[in-house]
Amino acid sequence: MLHISRGLFEQIHCHLQRCYPAEGVGFLLGVEEKGHRYVRRIRDVQNEAEQGGGHDRYVVQPETAAHVEDEANSMGLSVIGVFHSHPDQEPLPSAFDLDRALPWFSYVIVRVDKGVATGSRSWRPQADRSFQSEELKIV
Ligand SMILES: [Zn+2]
Repeated sequence: MLHISRGLFEQIHCHLQRCYPAEGVGFLLGVEEKGHRYVRRIRDVQNEAEQGGGHDRYVVQPETAAHVEDEANSMGLSVIGVFHSHPDQEPLPSAFDLDRALPWFSYVIVRVDKGVATGSRSWRPQADRSFQSEELKIV
C-alpha cells in the first residue's frame, strides 16, 4: 500500500496539470515500513523526452535521478517511486512504462483530461514483467 497525504497528492496533480498536454514526471521520496510505503516529499523533474514529443512517454536522465537520490538520502528518505501523467489516456502502464520499470519502485499514474487530473492509480512491477495494482491511500 502506498500512503500519500492529500497535500502532496495535490502537488502531484498541480505539476502534472501544468505539464499538460505533455507528459509530466517526478519522483516519490519516502520510507517503507512493514510493506507500507509512505510518501514524505515529491520532487518534480523535467520530462527530457519533451523536445522529441513527450506526449506518450517520459525520459529522466540518470544524472537527474542520481541527484534526486542524493537529495532524498540527505533528508533520511529514499526514492520509492515515480509519478507521471497520461494525458487523455487511462492511468494504465504502457508498454514503454513496463520496459523502463524498476522492480522496487511504485509507479503512480495520473490521468489528465484537458488539463485536469481525473484519476490516479499506483502500480508495482512484478517479476514476470507485468504490473500489479497497488492500493493508494490518500490520508
Ligand atoms: Zn506511462
